[in-house]
Amino acid sequence: MSAVAEQIRESKPPSIAGGVMSLNRSIDPMITFVRAKGAYMWDSTGKKYIDYHAAFAPYLLGHGDEDVDAAVIESIKKGESLMGAGTTPWEQEVADLIVDSVPGLEQVQLTGSGSEAVGYAVRLARAATGRESVLLMQGGYNGWADALSFNLMDPASNLANHVSGSEHELRPITAGLPASAGTEQAHVVEFNDLDAVEAVLAGNDVAAVVLEPILQNIGIVKPKEGYLEGIRQLCDKYGALLVFDEVKTGFRHALGGYQSICGITPDLSVFGKAVANGYPVGVVGGKEEFMSYCCHPDLSKRVLIAGTYNAHPMVVAATSATLKKLKCPEADVYGRLEALGNQLETGLNQLLENCNFPSTVVRQGSAFVVYFMDHAPESWRDIADNNDARRDVEYRKKLIEAGVFHFPVTTKQGSISAAHTESDISQTLTITEQVLNILT
Ligand code: PLP
Repeated sequence: MSAVAEQIRESKPPSIAGGVMSLNRSIDPMITFVRAKGAYMWDSTGKKYIDYHAAFAPYLLGHGDEDVDAAVIESIKKGESLMGAGTTPWEQEVADLIVDSVPGLEQVQLTGSGSEAVGYAVRLARAATGRESVLLMQGGYNGWADALSFNLMDPASNLANHVSGSEHELRPITAGLPASAGTEQAHVVEFNDLDAVEAVLAGNDVAAVVLEPILQNIGIVKPKEGYLEGIRQLCDKYGALLVFDEVKTGFRHALGGYQSICGITPDLSVFGKAVANGYPVGVVGGKEEFMSYCCHPDLSKRVLIAGTYNAHPMVVAATSATLKKLKCPEADVYGRLEALGNQLETGLNQLLENCNFPSTVVRQGSAFVVYFMDHAPESWRDIADNNDARRDVEYRKKLIEAGVFHFPVTTKQGSISAAHTESDISQTLTITEQVLNILT
């Protein structure tokens, strides 16, 4: 075994490559978790945490939501097995529920994950436009598909200083990409920089602009007034499709996704995470004009969307139950999430006011982040230049020690669920105050 492999093996389960399943789960120190319910997680020592990581955000209703789990169990008991041929009533029902919820959707396909769904959106856009390249946002994450694996959260030193209106040098986020997945097929610009979008679209044949309407993989970076409208107009002007990656924003901020809040309708949209409250799903959908490329009569234009487990009945049952709960006026899930988010934001602002270092709380509904800088960032570069990443990680690690779980990596978004209570938030604020008192 090489020295590097030996080093990686230290303190990690030896039969799991890299020590964690999905390499972005790596944390230091390592924790073995054994159970989660509602707003809480427990580790193998019995320690309880109030959870704001929510497994990278799918748990909008909380871990082990009883209505969602009951629907899954009921589906299994009824014999709703995976048929893998033809269609089923339950997948027709879930497709209707999704299409009825989101303004930009006329048709959908269900996939096994968000990454698959974004990959299909790019294929559909390429087939529909006859073009190849995609335009992505620096600091955005759109899953692991080759076409989208660029410029996530590079260390600032990796990229030359950004000149407004210009494109970034392309940086793959993974080894193993073919060279052909590179410069000719992807462009990366800073979020909130419309001039840069126009420069790329005017000078290249771009099939799709793919973006999270709020950058939620580097905290919460909101679009400036007019930015998303501007992108919509530029896509129309230059013939590129607009793809909203709503894997994180969708269903968390509103039943109709962030597109129903900002009033901009994309050509294609992608969802995942909160739509099934923790069960593994992705949704790609949009206008029939574009979705119909998956059954185009001309085989050379037909996009393959395939997966043995697509629309697995267990996942479909979870998605239907989640959507029914989100739609239920009595449950008032979004009202409750907004109230809890507001309680946390107000409390954090009061505590941070007394600290002698810069900080800014940014929140959208139930998603929030504390930046250690003096303003809400507008872009990845703004964060790279101004956020105190060392203090950010120290803050998170001390919170974890005290029983509040935030993912211990700089700028990772916090997620409140409908299972959190006012008393969980109060307790979180009490613990946060103690942590801030010892933060260096
Ligand atoms: N798009 C966004 C915005 C995401 O945050 C993620 C995952 O975090 C993905 C796509 C990929 O989804 P999945 O992890 O389900 O493949």
